[in-house]
Amino acid sequence: MNDCIFCKIINKEIPCAKIYEDEHTLAFLDISNDCFGHTLVIPKQHYTNVLDCPESVLSKVISTVKKVSKHYVENCGFDGINILNANEKAGEQSVFHLHFHILPRKNGDNLKTFPILPKNTKPLDEIANDLKIK
Ligand code: 5GP
Ligand code: ZN
Repeated sequence: MNDCIFCKIINKEIPCAKIYEDEHTLAFLDISNDCFGHTLVIPKQHYTNVLDCPESVLSKVISTVKKVSKHYVENCGFDGINILNANEKAGEQSVFHLHFHILPRKNGDNLKTFPILPKNTKPLDEIANDLKIK
């Protein structure tokens, strides 16, 4: 995709701080540098997000997410990981090339990486009735 910033990174038209690369995927640091080691994992083929990405590609991306996550915990002194992924504008996606965020965590780091949401009032059984796959 011509105007996709992550495709430009893959094509080396713009630089990135690379963590890992293989035939199908690339992991690099998020430009925000908002926490130590905030990493993005992307497929080298352009897909918008999880919703349009074939399982065959998605599984390669998730394999790299796991590889980088295990490396951070086993070799880089982290105690845990958050994996985040946004889909579509409503899901607060801002770059429309599939990516997973890896946020490396340490015990007691006090990072608030999960949103605190207001309480939903509809009972769970009614919600499940609305949403279940039939
Ligand atoms: P989203 O909001 O779509 O889940 O996440 C997009 C992420 O891409 C953001 O965290 C943003 O900081 C990051 N980002 C945007 N442009 C660039 C760039 O040119 N280079 C890198 N390394 N990250 C970028
Ligand atoms: Zn792209």
